[in-house]
Amino acid sequence: MFGSRADTLAPPPAAERATPGYTRAKAERFRRSQAWRRLRYRILAANANSHADGKARCTLCNRTAAEAGCALHVDHRECVSKNWGRRLDATNLRVLCADCNVGRSNRPLEGVAP
Ligand SMILES: [Zn+2]
Repeated sequence: MFGSRADTLAPPPAAERATPGYTRAKAERFRRSQAWRRLRYRILAANANSHADGKARCTLCNRTAAEAGCALHVDHRECVSKNWGRRLDATNLRVLCADCNVGRSNRPLEGVAP
């Protein structure tokens, strides 16, 4: 049962534990990699092209960067620390404004809209 007290005290399920061998340094190298930068650009461009005005929008609040007054991020739905294997999986990525992304850290955000 989701949300029950017993669940919050139980050890985290496998999906919420760090990938063995994951380090912050490894993640930093990944974020600077050309593979990530290319894919990130592709995701932002596809998001922008899906809107009539050609502007990228946050997947959660639907604001452009100008409307939100903050940057748009390409977010890993399943965090790289939790599932390193999906770091370059386009189906694991979405555009979020910094407001919607902040505070989320590596926790799931599904079903939580601002
Ligand atoms: Zn947003």
